[in-house]
Amino acid sequence: MSKILVIGSINMDLVSKVESMPQVGETVLGKGFAQIPGGKGANQAVAMSRLGADVTMIGKVGDDAFGRELKKGLENDNIDTTGIHIENGISTGIAIITVDESANNSIIVNLGANFSVTKEFIDENIEKIESADIVVLQLEIPEESVRHALEISKRLGKYTILNPAPARPLGDEIIKNVDLLVPNETELELISKMSAKDESEVKLAADSLIQKGIKEIIVTLGENGCMHLGEGFCRKYDAIKVEAVDTTAAGDSFIAGVASYIANGKAMDEAIEFATKVASVTVTREGAQSSLPHINEIEL
Ligand code: ATP
Repeated sequence: MSKILVIGSINMDLVSKVESMPQVGETVLGKGFAQIPGGKGANQAVAMSRLGADVTMIGKVGDDAFGRELKKGLENDNIDTTGIHIENGISTGIAIITVDESANNSIIVNLGANFSVTKEFIDENIEKIESADIVVLQLEIPEESVRHALEISKRLGKYTILNPAPARPLGDEIIKNVDLLVPNETELELISKMSAKDESEVKLAADSLIQKGIKEIIVTLGENGCMHLGEGFCRKYDAIKVEAVDTTAAGDSFIAGVASYIANGKAMDEAIEFATKVASVTVTREGAQSSLPHINEIEL
């Protein structure tokens, strides 16, 4: 089995349920609180490990109770955490999430220690890139660190996967070192600077990135499934119909499904079918890491 390295964010999600969102200056009573491990990097690492992959993570947490708990949690999920540093004098990444009765949410993310995942820190951990086969990144660490990690990974001949979330425009120096890009429609629009409102627009926008050097793109379309595109091909996959209760981490578990199947030497179409099943389980449960399924929960 190939080894996967995730370089990315580690957060604690603090989730409050409310009847309606507080207005400026207003205090409302919460209807329940949960503290759930999150961060796109950690979510994807945990999801891959629960699907049976061999996963190492590079990242940072603060020297506080959340940080120590999050690192321990990743260890308990069988992730190699020797590349996760506890940074003094800075808080762990925190997402403060408020969800109202109509399932609308508002989120404040304090990147905290995730922003100390610098180019230098990646250089200090270069042996972890050397010993990996697949390197997976997102955009919740500094962009120059993502660019640097992709450059090193490609130079060392690794297969690179980028989930360009949260959405933001990307420079060509990042794009040219990505083997597989996995954006949702909004992210695709921002990166390509083109509209991606329907399948034909998604195809045009994705083609423009393929011309810039990305080998393959999977655009996730929520309950409408996904599209897999590359030089001269485009294939649509439907989502599985389920009673969705919370789509948090749907994208993270989808990417984990794809990466873990590729690590097992499977073809991309099989990997996408597997990832679609994994994500369909995730959306039937609440929270980020709390919703990520184990391999024995997926009907193969
Ligand atoms: P998030 O940021 O919430 O993690 P995302 O925007 O990155 O999500 P989506 O496109 O919403 O990712 O979803 C990823 C995959 O999850 C989809 O391609 C689909 O297979 C599955 N999925 C998402 N929503 C649903 C749903 N309501 N029912 C079934 N499957 C879903």
